[in-house]
Amino acid sequence: MGIVATSFRDELLAAGLLVPLGADGLYGRAAAFEDVVDALARLIVSLGAADGAARIRFPPIEPRSVFDRTDYLRSFPDLTGAVVTFRGDDAGHARLLAAADTGDDWTELLEPADAMLCPAVCHPLYPTLTGTLPAGGATYDLQGWCFRHEPSVDPARMQAFRQHEIVYVGDAAGARAHRDRWVERGTELLADLGLDVEAVVANDPFFGRVGRMLATNQRDQELKIELVVTVASADQPTAVVSSNCHEDHFGAAFGINTAEGDVAHSACVGFGLERVTLALLRRHGLDVERWPSTVRDRLWP
Ligand code: ZN
Repeated sequence: MGIVATSFRDELLAAGLLVPLGADGLYGRAAAFEDVVDALARLIVSLGAADGAARIRFPPIEPRSVFDRTDYLRSFPDLTGAVVTFRGDDAGHARLLAAADTGDDWTELLEPADAMLCPAVCHPLYPTLTGTLPAGGATYDLQGWCFRHEPSVDPARMQAFRQHEIVYVGDAAGARAHRDRWVERGTELLADLGLDVEAVVANDPFFGRVGRMLATNQRDQELKIELVVTVASADQPTAVVSSNCHEDHFGAAFGINTAEGDVAHSACVGFGLERVTLALLRRHGLDVERWPSTVRDRLWP
């Protein structure tokens, strides 16, 4: 896949759709790219509005206390990003500058800022829901930047990207229904946009020995369904939407209860805005103006 992924990236860069920032997986986005992202976001907002989703936007950074409670560190330590800062005095500042001037690793002199880069946009939501939910649960529309440390030449594997999520928090049956409804809606939307989409049971790259157990549970319980399409390589389709049942993982961690007094379950569907955009560029060509009118009319009605 390496060669195919690289050549698709080269085409995107040559067309000026992505702007290289000097590190794998970090790009600027040109206007034509952003226009598609904005159009997709509008479509997802209107689909979410049908569920009465309350729209909230969080920053791409969460308090470390929140990150700790999500247990992300157990599953994906290798993808995390922590914010560090300088907390020293004048003498420390001099050491910092000396290290920088001599080309040494000055970041070793920084200290944790008690903040983490969000690996998933729904994390900051849960601590705001501690307590008792309204009867029937609640649905939220979230969009924001995520960070995952997996530098790659595959343009679909960015280190910083946007997720647009519709999250349900309520009882177990409601969470399953939300997940299944959004697998359907996501499939329909992507098919409307001309993509050949397939729903598959996900297999997340959980880390290490504990991770293999978590991966087996995720697969056996069919907790996460991904919608996959061709982006960089036809042999290895890319997940562009994932619809995920968390069971009571976040409900228990953040003390969220249903109106009936049970620990809340949650489910979220996440659209990878860059990935869907890339899939459309791959499918319909790099000149957005020349995309089929059916696709353009759906994006810009
Ligand atoms: Zn989520």
